[in-house]
Amino acid sequence: MLGPNVETPKIAIVGGGIGGLAAAAFLRRAGLRGTVYEQAPALKEVGAGLVVAPNAARLLRRLGVLGRLRRSAVRLDVGWEFRRWQDGTVLSAEDLATACERLYGEHTYTVHRAELLDVLKTAVPEDAIRLGKRCTALELRDGRPSLRFDDGERAEADIVIGADGVHSVVRGAVTEPRPAAYSGLCAFRALVPGDRAPSFALRRAQTLWIGPGRHLVHYPVSGGRAVNLVAFAPAGDDSVESWTARATVEEFLLEFDGWDPRLVDLVRAAETPGRWALLDRAPLPRWSRGPVTLLGDAAHPMFPFFAQGAAQAIEDAAVLARCLAEDVADPARALRRYESLRLPRTSRLQAVSHARADVNHLPDGPGQRARDRSFAGTDPLVGNAWIYEYDPDAAMAPEAGAG
Ligand code: FAD
Repeated sequence: MLGPNVETPKIAIVGGGIGGLAAAAFLRRAGLRGTVYEQAPALKEVGAGLVVAPNAARLLRRLGVLGRLRRSAVRLDVGWEFRRWQDGTVLSAEDLATACERLYGEHTYTVHRAELLDVLKTAVPEDAIRLGKRCTALELRDGRPSLRFDDGERAEADIVIGADGVHSVVRGAVTEPRPAAYSGLCAFRALVPGDRAPSFALRRAQTLWIGPGRHLVHYPVSGGRAVNLVAFAPAGDDSVESWTARATVEEFLLEFDGWDPRLVDLVRAAETPGRWALLDRAPLPRWSRGPVTLLGDAAHPMFPFFAQGAAQAIEDAAVLARCLAEDVADPARALRRYESLRLPRTSRLQAVSHARADVNHLPDGPGQRARDRSFAGTDPLVGNAWIYEYDPDAAMAPEAGAG
């Protein structure tokens, strides 16, 4: 049951990443207030890029921050340009320049993660962000959530949103812990300074080189001042699921030995890469329990092969804020509604992202040749319409009418 302050529930958001800040921003837009508790002493993102697909751009526009983001973002002309590992033969490419806005009303951008976090921060009141607050426990006392932090502070809230990422503490209060499975894959990520990047990597394109057991994606970010590299390869014994594990350029190069020389040159120009294992997590059966819910990677971590994890966190935030605003007297019911609106879509994205690894990593042979032929007959921009055209307000309209 909601606490005494029924009109303006006290909402605690654990985690100040893209999902947590988006939640605070959408709550504010809906006339509610959330306090973000972030463990780090400053809001920061890793030095890496992100694709902002039309479904995310639409919501950033609604928050009033897309214009500011566009000052540093790169507007892509070409998306998902699949190339053969050995010689760069183009297998398939999305024509974003002429079709993306026409089909989905928004463009596709690439950004540096820190730039996205910065613009989201402008949509959240400064005093709604508490830094250096690592949540260590969440208890329900007579149904009311109480958060504990590592500095000894406690905070009571009417509603708790766990936006605390893949190792979520809040998740333990919602559902049984499920161990993550070892995926056998690891990800390398690195930035290449723009002035060291070959011109083909500075095109306004999201390029994917696919080959046996591996693939590599690159695109320019920060107005072309850097090129973002992210690559997937067999993990060996590496099992660190973290953004902080370091690797060397030599280790990165070894993975792509024998690939198209343009690609090898690009990797050689990279700054110190990070490497971490991708752990495999099945969709959770539930995200909410009473007044506690999850959002973003805490709820639905996914392989990044559709570049949709952050976009889904932003969509979650938009739907969650509306559900709470429309049912402020009964948060548990509002959270159940949020979960039922969001869980099927994010589970589908988890599944298709999972399946993409096998497709991208086929060994050369009949299966690979059939895949490459099928690329020619499909337009991924249209095939992915269910991802890009999603609008939370539209998705809630028929459901709201039925309810
Ligand atoms: P996080 O970004 O993990 O943020 C969680 C926050 O909570 C952090 O700030 C953390 O410090 C804080 N926190 C954690 N524990 C606590 C605690 N106990 N107390 C307080 N604070 C805590 N998505 C896209 O949309 N497009 C892409 O192109 C894309 N590319 C990707 C490429 C790679 C290689 C990977 C791995 C992911 C990619 N994603 C992409 C996915 C995207 O990065 C994530 O889905 C997104 O960052 C999730 O945001 P989040 O806020 O849910 O979690």
